[in-house]
Amino acid sequence: MTQIMQGLAAAPGIGIGALHLYRPGLAAPIAPTADEAAIDPQEEWQTFLTAHAHVDAELEELEANPNSFVGEIFAAHRAILQDRTLLDWVQAAIYEEHLSAAAATHKVISNLADLFRSFEDEYFAGRAIDILDLGQRLLTQLGEALSRPQLTQLPPQTILVAEDLTLSDLAQLPVDHVVGIALAYSTPTAHSAILARSQGIPLVCALGPSLLHLLPGQNAVVDGNEGHFLVNIDAAVMERYSSEQQEYLAAGVLALTHAHKPAYTRDGVHVPILANANSPQEVSQSRSMGADGIGLLRTEYLFQGRAIPPSYDEQRATYAEFITQVNRQLTVRALDAGGDKPVSYIVHHREDNPFLGRRGIRLLLAEPELLRVQYCALQAAAHAAQDPAQNPAQAPVEVRFMLPMISTAEEILSVRSILNATPPHANFDCDTTESDDLPHLKLGIMIEVPSAALIAASLAPLVDFFSIGTNDLAQYVLASDRTNSIVANLADPLHPAVLHLIYQTCIAAQAAGKPVSLCGEIAGDPLATPLLLGLGVNELSVPLFAVPIIKETVRDLDMAHCRQLATAALACSSAAAVRALLATI
Ligand code: PEP
Ligand code: MG
Repeated sequence: MTQIMQGLAAAPGIGIGALHLYRPGLAAPIAPTADEAAIDPQEEWQTFLTAHAHVDAELEELEANPNSFVGEIFAAHRAILQDRTLLDWVQAAIYEEHLSAAAATHKVISNLADLFRSFEDEYFAGRAIDILDLGQRLLTQLGEALSRPQLTQLPPQTILVAEDLTLSDLAQLPVDHVVGIALAYSTPTAHSAILARSQGIPLVCALGPSLLHLLPGQNAVVDGNEGHFLVNIDAAVMERYSSEQQEYLAAGVLALTHAHKPAYTRDGVHVPILANANSPQEVSQSRSMGADGIGLLRTEYLFQGRAIPPSYDEQRATYAEFITQVNRQLTVRALDAGGDKPVSYIVHHREDNPFLGRRGIRLLLAEPELLRVQYCALQAAAHAAQDPAQNPAQAPVEVRFMLPMISTAEEILSVRSILNATPPHANFDCDTTESDDLPHLKLGIMIEVPSAALIAASLAPLVDFFSIGTNDLAQYVLASDRTNSIVANLADPLHPAVLHLIYQTCIAAQAAGKPVSLCGEIAGDPLATPLLLGLGVNELSVPLFAVPIIKETVRDLDMAHCRQLATAALACSSAAAVRALLATI
């Protein structure tokens, strides 16, 4: 009988294929050399330091990956590599236990991975796989054979099953052969999910450790829409999934053919559908996917994996290039560092709760130079783009600057006074005025902290637009860490508590005549589209792959019906009831 396992839907689509179990690990322990006297600790330590330097250079190169999520993970690997604990432990194993460089590395990496696995905190427990990944690199440099199976040779129609995947694993996947991924752990907002989503591979995570005991080779289905993973599938169920998969693929192809046209509802309301971009590639692909612009540029990738922040000139050139590549709108979010996104050259004090700590705007107000340089660079790029002499052929692009993690009105006022102040450098040109009107740019805020939604009426007059960040809003409203798979299903952006805050934000913005966008991941789920529009959201900014399908969904809607649906959803008492309501339409 068909066995259905319930996990969390992390990347949409349906994958049908043969199960391949991926269980990486370090090679068997390296036996200590029988003759201890044959080990020259100084020589072994030098051998280790040479391997260490090679891996460091390798990771430095990988850190520069234009995909910020990939770069970020390699930056984290590099931080582990450079940590004193690793170096001290290996040194002690060589000098005190007379182990060879390879045996000492194997022992220390295994011990460190076990230590991390034992942490109760899911985030740290999940880092064990990063430590093993790093160990593989060091041992390769030290000439050791590894047990990590190659993923490059996977046969066509593979469903990959693993505990978790590192970005090194994902980077070597033959994406044409892997039709679905099922993970025992991880969450929909983890790096692996975000990368799988951008590669168009359906993914279900948080399926639990029993997943790893399944027999390889059997037929399996990954349903990335519903978060199901199926094995032992009987013929009728398989037939249903095959036809669902065909429909899903056909809908995607059809949607892409119409993606370049604007999305109007049946009753004539235009809904701009923009893309979220995490890398320069996604900005440059946004037009061909039919996006009406970039509604959220996560600029963290510009700041991570380097020793100093990008200069004014570098940022100005980058933003100027982006303005030429997008349709109609470019919304650049100010650096959103802190929380789970550390930036090496910004001093982060140890925080017990980094998501409730100095992140986003709090960090920028503590380091106003970062804010000022980013703003002035964007403003100069926007100013140049508005000059018809410099850009004769270019249709006007609205350039927006967006502040993350706003929780009080004072933060906006502080930002305004910093941006209106005379720039401290004579060597960069920041067009500032005495008035509150910042020229060339619209200034807006993310609504992702409950307090901001609750006082949206007071914040609306201070800004030009709102963009609702449901990824964070849901985690803060429901007090459930978005990176922790044990509670990740609680942070449902369709929970009525979140919907009430979205609605309240829209009402406040409408009264002040300001537009509201929504850029959390839920904006890319067609199930939610009628509800979000009914609550009063004017624009949606979605993962790039979802632009065509969301445009297609909008074209099928009627605003009066959307509003009725929103009223009914606001009266629900649970996320499950909202989802059931949406499933009926
Ligand atoms: C959000 O919080 O919803 C959001 C879009 O920002 P990020 O996922 O980058 O925190
Ligand atoms: Mg956020």
